[in-house]
Amino acid sequence: MILRAAAPARIVARAPIDDNWAMPGPVTDARAGALLARHLDAFGGPELPVPVESIASDLLGLLVEESEELPCSGVLVPAERRIWVNADEARQSPGRRRFTIAHELGHWVCQVQEGRRQPIYCRAVTADGDGRNPPEEREANVFAAELLMPRPAVRAAFAELADSPELATRFDVSQEAMRWRLYNLGLVDERPA
Ligand SMILES: [Zn+2]
Repeated sequence: MILRAAAPARIVARAPIDDNWAMPGPVTDARAGALLARHLDAFGGPELPVPVESIASDLLGLLVEESEELPCSGVLVPAERRIWVNADEARQSPGRRRFTIAHELGHWVCQVQEGRRQPIYCRAVTADGDGRNPPEEREANVFAAELLMPRPAVRAAFAELADSPELATRFDVSQEAMRWRLYNLGLVDERPA
């Protein structure tokens, strides 16, 4: 695994992205739903869990690779159309791997397609944020949450399963990600710890 090819000019965003889980602003992004609809039109298949890797590779032509040497959770290298995922985190949690890919897709759709070209380095999503997240990280997190846990699908599943652990399984996300999603969508009152 050679990361030198990625040759980051500078680290664009290195603040933890985790506190973005608690979202004071919009918690959905219509661009995520549009992307999902495009994939469904082109490739069909089940709607859940959302096929985030196929969206990246088949629909957007982005290469998804894992690296043992990544100093962060994920990297998007626009010039190479490449997403690097932290291999160690991916082994520990398939849900985290999926969220990292979705988060980098958020950067791709929300920022790169708007003209940004520098590599973007992203830190792990955990629950101990310090609230100093750049707006583009928040934007990527909102996009990722909406892509993996679309609001209409979450509301429907919640009506059936309430806040049981099966909910996260159905969407193939971490329990933590689903707890925050339910909270941000106003489906549960208790703020995740
Ligand atoms: Zn990011």
